[in-house]
Amino acid sequence: MKLSELRPCDNCGGKIAPIFYVLRISPAVINMRDAHQGVALGEAFGFPLELVEGMGMSGEIGTIAMDEKKDSGKQIMTEIWICQECHMQPINIAEIVERVSERKHDKVEEK
Ligand SMILES: [Zn+2]
Repeated sequence: MKLSELRPCDNCGGKIAPIFYVLRISPAVINMRDAHQGVALGEAFGFPLELVEGMGMSGEIGTIAMDEKKDSGKQIMTEIWICQECHMQPINIAEIVERVSERKHDKVEEK
C-alpha cells in the first residue's frame, strides 16, 4: 500500500490511520441445477453429500467471482476500507459497496 493510495473510511469519511479494516466483497453464484442434482442423488441413495461429491461429480457447485483466475472476477470484487470506529458499529455493507462501486466506476469513466 502506498501513501498516495490511502483514502478516508468508506463509511464515515473519517481518517483510517493507524489501523483500519479491509473487506473484500464479491458476488457468488450457485449452479442450482448441479446443486439439485447432488442433493437428489444423495437423497435417492441415502448418501451423505460428501460421498455424493466423491462419486464423479466435481463437487464444485458454485463460484465466488473474486476467486476466479480471470481478471473479470477481480474487477467484480469491491474492496471497502473501514476505520476502527465504524468497525465497532453496525454498518450497511450494501450501501458502502454501492458508494465505492460508483466511485470506482466514475474513475474509470474519467480515464
Ligand atoms: Zn469510519
